[in-house]
Amino acid sequence: MDLSQARGTFPLSSSKLRNIRMRYQQRNRLCCGLLLTITLGVATTQSVANDPTQSTIVVKIQPRTGGSIQGPVVDYNDHGLVLMQAGVPYALAWKQLESGTAYTARRDLLAHTRGGWDKLSAQDHFNLGRFALEFNRQDLARADFNQTSALAKKQYEESIHHAWQQFREKRKRWKRARKSTHADRTSELSTKKIITDDASVVHGIGDDLDRAVHIAEAGFVHDTDEDIRARVRAAYLQYGEKVQEIMGSSVVFIETEHFLIWTDWPKRSRDQLIRWLEDMYSSLSKQFGVDDSTNIFLSKCPVFCWRSKARYQRFAQKFDGYDGKDSIGYTRSIESNGHVHMAFMRRGSEPADIDRLACTIVHEGTHAFLHRLYTTRLLPHWINEGAAEMTATVVLGRQCPAGGNATLLAKQYAKYNWPLGQFLQSVAPIDAHQYPLAQSIVSYLNTQSIKRWRALIKALKNGNTFSKALAHAYDGLNVKQLESGWREANADQAGS
Ligand SMILES: [Zn+2]
Repeated sequence: MDLSQARGTFPLSSSKLRNIRMRYQQRNRLCCGLLLTITLGVATTQSVANDPTQSTIVVKIQPRTGGSIQGPVVDYNDHGLVLMQAGVPYALAWKQLESGTAYTARRDLLAHTRGGWDKLSAQDHFNLGRFALEFNRQDLARADFNQTSALAKKQYEESIHHAWQQFREKRKRWKRARKSTHADRTSELSTKKIITDDASVVHGIGDDLDRAVHIAEAGFVHDTDEDIRARVRAAYLQYGEKVQEIMGSSVVFIETEHFLIWTDWPKRSRDQLIRWLEDMYSSLSKQFGVDDSTNIFLSKCPVFCWRSKARYQRFAQKFDGYDGKDSIGYTRSIESNGHVHMAFMRRGSEPADIDRLACTIVHEGTHAFLHRLYTTRLLPHWINEGAAEMTATVVLGRQCPAGGNATLLAKQYAKYNWPLGQFLQSVAPIDAHQYPLAQSIVSYLNTQSIKRWRALIKALKNGNTFSKALAHAYDGLNVKQLESGWREANADQAGS
């Protein structure tokens, strides 16, 4: 998602933001966690050729981020499901759904496969019980384990006991972690000062940032002059002080190898944040062959993390003129001078919430890194989003549902020969339901050859169209050939 560098264009409603991002798309960018999360349920583009939904059932699911999606299920597995709403396929992991709707959908699909509720076996009920425990739904688990026992008590007694034991241990570990976080937070809150807003101070910060980024106009690529870096760093630190002044003394400053972080998060969350950010940085350095002595950022990348939605929105509004309404994180990238910073909020403390936060941080961090790589020209959105999802999958593994969603969705594209339309040639923003598609194609390009993948990104950052960059990096490959190669790779996978 894009945000203009021109101050005063915001705040915006999501629909306005959408228009703006279309207008400014190749100049300035604000990419939000919003796209990862909220726009589900808004079906827009791409109708589907074949109808794979004739012999299936309709389910209604609610993503944890809000809204609901209803439609026939195209496919599902242990990771998640693909369902169709208004001709648009949505791939979602079970863990991205509200517990009740995930369980009901899973149970109904199983009953459909078996030919009726009463056909569920002891093993089916046992699996459903374990599935319910993954969502902390002990009530549902108990009912299914009772059914298991009713059908085959002796055979499953020990397994059920073991499942409960595992569940309790997992919850205990999570509660302990949460408790230490809470204690830490309380002590910080008690030292919090209330600071009243001062319009003139807020206004001054905008000027400071503009100065900071203008200093660097002379050279924004990663071999920027040391003197310029030092001046940008000083301006960033000054900027951070203003943020602390306005947001209160609970905001601490942390400097890592590649990031300048201002946050009111408790210690444990700060430690996780640093790990996610630096792991993201080293993963991308490896991906693009950036050596340790090079710092891709202008000085270091400023990051702002907030403990509540109210504080996140307050920061977003005051410092970026963005309403921050429907997102949990965003990256602000300015093409003309190479500046980039990020902001995040914590929401919820369930394991699924922490995973979502981790994915958002690595996703947005990838946008920040890619913005600074080679040149500060903005990438076509589908490449940028696909690369961000791919990196989140590489860095976080199973903690991040993106990889599983991409595999599951691509399998359907291959199986039913769904058309891509102009997806690959478009530079426009894409919708949340298209992220797994983008990731699948980006991963395909990446696994063909890392050298070619780097050459492709470099050619795009030098201003080539996707078709030209593709041909240049992949030995004359054209978009049609790419599409059929990608389909073939996923058809193999569909058959297996
Ligand atoms: Zn993004």
